Amino acid sequence: MQKRSGRKSRPLRIAGQPVERGEVYEINLKVSEFYTATAATIPVTVIAGRRSGPVLFVTAAVHGDELNGTEIIRQLICRVAPADIRGTLVLMPVVNRFGFLHHTRYLPDRRDLNRNFPGRTDGNMAQRVAWEVFDQVIRHCNYGIDLHTATADRTNLPHVRGDMSHREVRRLARAFGVEIIINSEGSDGSLRRAAVAAGVPTILFEAGERQKFQEPMIRRGVEGIRNVLVELGMLQGTKVAPSFRIIVKNSEWVRAEKGGILIMYKKVGELVYSGEEIALNTNPFGREFGTIRSPVTGLVIGATTLPLVNPGIPVAHVVKLRKTLPVVERAVRRKALVRAEEKPVMFS
Ligand SMILES: [Zn+2]
Repeated sequence: MQKRSGRKSRPLRIAGQPVERGEVYEINLKVSEFYTATAATIPVTVIAGRRSGPVLFVTAAVHGDELNGTEIIRQLICRVAPADIRGTLVLMPVVNRFGFLHHTRYLPDRRDLNRNFPGRTDGNMAQRVAWEVFDQVIRHCNYGIDLHTATADRTNLPHVRGDMSHREVRRLARAFGVEIIINSEGSDGSLRRAAVAAGVPTILFEAGERQKFQEPMIRRGVEGIRNVLVELGMLQGTKVAPSFRIIVKNSEWVRAEKGGILIMYKKVGELVYSGEEIALNTNPFGREFGTIRSPVTGLVIGATTLPLVNPGIPVAHVVKLRKTLPVVERAVRRKALVRAEEKPVMFS
């Protein structure tokens, strides 16, 4: 364990470490053990502001192959100093170290860590890892943001997921400042659902693809976290507003009806109109034998990145639009959804 800079005390503990104001802590939290009888630890950086305020956790790579969030957190670590903030940032860029090392979503027991929170001390491997993370870090925080990407062979438009019936979750979700918020409480055993149940309002940010660093996605994540810091009074400044805001109740996965090879016509962030072609289905003889059409008018927020389908494979995730359609049409024309590189997000 290493410490950087110096100052006073208060009763917060993260991973057993008493946290004092004005300090930065780099902690290796033990969550399991390798075959080699060495500790499996995960990195936790605690940036404690000089002034008191809320404790916000940000987690990434709970699914070990979802890397955009790992880079989002690295940028936060590099840009935020104790003098800049009130309260405390608890940053965990690699929650699932096993999956991270092996470029996979899962743990070595093939379980999904994000279905095993809050975990238990005497449970299966995933439950034990989840418990260490939850007991040592998550339950000591006041708010949380969990960073994800789409799963294998898919991509997602940046969006937030949260239980909008919960007042403080709704506050975080709106403050984050992305155009699309999916209203859901999350899967049973997910980090965010378990955190909310334990009194730690938490949202999830989804953006892009696994196994990549995608700068526009990373930028939206850093900007969104900055917006949340401003909302919680942890940082001075003004929030960046989204070009529109839709709280999604109706979304639809358009699926392939036949096995084949796809020529995709639509990308995430594009509009699709009812009956319009999303993809052309072809076969290895070069023949075209069908088109996949959208049953609804809406915005494509998720899509397959693998152009090979069996019947039932999801091709595009479409959010249905009605009243908001003209606003979204204008934003899409302005390319406001996945913005090109701008100046870096500033924290001081
Ligand atoms: Zn994920």
